[in-house]
Amino acid sequence: MLQMLNSSESFKKEPFLKGNSVFKQAVLHMTETGKLPHAILITGEEGIGKKTAAKYLALSVLCEKRKGEPCLVCSSCKKIISDIHPDIISLFPDASGIYKIADIRELRTSASVRPNEAEYKFYIIDKADAMNKNAANSLLKCMEEPPEGTVFVLLSDNEKALMPTVLSRSIRFRLSPLNEEYFSEYFGEKGEELFALSGGNLGKAKLLKEKSAEKPLSSLFMENAISGNTYEVLKIIKGSYKKRNEIEELLDEILVILKNALISGYSPKGKTLLEKRIAEKMTADKIFDIINETERLRELTVRNISAESILSSLFLKIKG
Ligand SMILES: [Zn+2]
Repeated sequence: MLQMLNSSESFKKEPFLKGNSVFKQAVLHMTETGKLPHAILITGEEGIGKKTAAKYLALSVLCEKRKGEPCLVCSSCKKIISDIHPDIISLFPDASGIYKIADIRELRTSASVRPNEAEYKFYIIDKADAMNKNAANSLLKCMEEPPEGTVFVLLSDNEKALMPTVLSRSIRFRLSPLNEEYFSEYFGEKGEELFALSGGNLGKAKLLKEKSAEKPLSSLFMENAISGNTYEVLKIIKGSYKKRNEIEELLDEILVILKNALISGYSPKGKTLLEKRIAEKMTADKIFDIINETERLRELTVRNISAESILSSLFLKIKG
């Protein structure tokens, strides 16, 4: 399956190579000497930054500045960063998880065409170890007689599953975890904990952070409001959003919670614990009243009434 890499990670925010100076040096050497191998294998565990490394390589080679580190601002760099460069083609195995001969044939046909606008054409092959024998042989043939200006970048977290002949034709790089200092810089006060949990694997750390993300303010507000936790509610109200669209969004989320609570009596499937609790604690009439009040307050936001007074009114209605 050929497709453009769908990722918007910004290199400006993620100087991921802080922990991979060997790779970075090698790339610098390639660009300075103009000696670019036809096949490069980047290995390392899931989440370590293989795709980012491949992108960095393409950036370094195709940057219009030509020397040193990629500038990240020229037209070529911008296209690569936004995944719209026509000469950077990414491959992923299809739903079966395996590359088949047809996938590699498609790649070979595509590779026989000259690059669109750059000097080189990059094929970034994710999970390069996931090939059946025919596919791997076909890729090997292509690597043996590479079309001019073509660079294959193979990514793998299971190097042992690659054919030895494919391995022997590639220049290999193994990515290492990042250092703790970088984590603190990137994740702030959570950096130390995330570093310990992920072992310096940025992808893993991002997932962990996502999983432990705080509950949305709408749920927090409703949870505390229905339990009558005045102090907690006041804390939320005090720290609440200031911008109009944020208050509107918050009220919209609260409306969804209330409407789900209202119907959870006869359709409990897919309702959250919070919605079920509201339905247990309040009669349908009461929930209806609160929905009406929330909608009234939602309309008041156009008059730039503060989030504090809107949420206070809503709390009084829920409590009363
Ligand atoms: Zn550039």
